[in-house]
Amino acid sequence: MGYKMNTKRGPADLKLLQEMNRAQVLETIRAYGPIARVDIARKTQLSPTTVATLVNDLIAEGWVRSAGEGESRGGRKPTLLEFNAKAGYIIAVDVTDTLLTVARTDLNARELEEERSVPHRFTGHALAELIGETVGTIIDSMKARKLNIAGIGISTPGLVDADTGIVRYSLKLNWMDLPLGSMLKKRFDLTVYVENDTNAAALGEKWFGAGRPFENMVYVTVGSGVGAGLILGGRIFRGITGSAGELGHMSIDKGGERCECGNIGCLENLVAWPAIWARVTKAMKRGVPTVITELVDNIDQVTPEILNKAAWASDQLAVNALTEAGVSLGIGLANLVNLLNPEAIILGGELIGKDSFILQHVQKTMATHGLRVPGAAVRLLPHQLGEKARLYGVAGIVLHNLLATRFWSSGLDTSAEPVFPQ
Ligand SMILES: [Zn+2]
Repeated sequence: MGYKMNTKRGPADLKLLQEMNRAQVLETIRAYGPIARVDIARKTQLSPTTVATLVNDLIAEGWVRSAGEGESRGGRKPTLLEFNAKAGYIIAVDVTDTLLTVARTDLNARELEEERSVPHRFTGHALAELIGETVGTIIDSMKARKLNIAGIGISTPGLVDADTGIVRYSLKLNWMDLPLGSMLKKRFDLTVYVENDTNAAALGEKWFGAGRPFENMVYVTVGSGVGAGLILGGRIFRGITGSAGELGHMSIDKGGERCECGNIGCLENLVAWPAIWARVTKAMKRGVPTVITELVDNIDQVTPEILNKAAWASDQLAVNALTEAGVSLGIGLANLVNLLNPEAIILGGELIGKDSFILQHVQKTMATHGLRVPGAAVRLLPHQLGEKARLYGVAGIVLHNLLATRFWSSGLDTSAEPVFPQ
């Protein structure tokens, strides 16, 4: 659908209209290429002349290139066009409390290239410095090969102000009001986007993983904590202070334990791995018989994989622990589904895999605790990208903003011009 001009509007709108049409042509080539000009016109409902002009500009600027000839439909064979994914590269950064990962990807952001993982024990400014150094190393190697760098995307735990690139608060990393985005922008003179880790993973699964068919989906991570990334109408829903999606602190047990957030009965204390681990190992210390003692030398070796294996082998302690956690998670998710009526819930985190014992109990409890109609419509799916989801997510953010900044001038920050393409 081409954007038709509203005749009551002035020249500024005409420029916007042209830019929107350009963006649409580029998106069509990116999504459907290799594609002939005539098919671009058909899909966008723009005139063949408009398409021809826009395509010539895009080729001249390096965004689009020829991809050989297509089948003739009576006349001359048409030239096919494709998005030039190698015209620029994205740097994707994933920060966790123990590992820093930096990857380079092309403009399709579908595959991660040249990935480096640096284990660390740093927090505070030392960690910010390590991020700068590690990103600097990869930038140096890209510059040596004369590669265009489109921008940097960073995933980090904590409360993130995505508009300003400031990490407001991260207990794990000991960051308070850290201007991570502007620090790196100043150092490398590149556009930088910072996103909360759960939101980044949600966008990764939405654009490149299990969430691709859905515009309304919730990504729920169950691991060292419990969190949710809400994608509503194709966009992240952040709430007024950027903290929307704190599913782990949904209170579901009025007589429960006190949580580190100060409240009582939070979901996180029932289903996050540290809580499950503490319950299981406490029982082991009390001498409760379990096959787990044969699988590990000491309690520090009890992992989600070991517990899952023991549960499938009908070990009572493991079965009870994962059933209880599954029921609690199912209650939390039933509430979420009642509230948001999403198309899908994608489950991620170290407790979730395709053969996770916990899943059956989550599903069963959602059916008995949630409303029937939204419950029947929602799809509960395991993640597809695992730990890589955050890297894909931030690479996708750079890509989407790059196209938006370049072509959609309204309502977006255009002050930071991406270095692309020359
Ligand atoms: Zn809490």
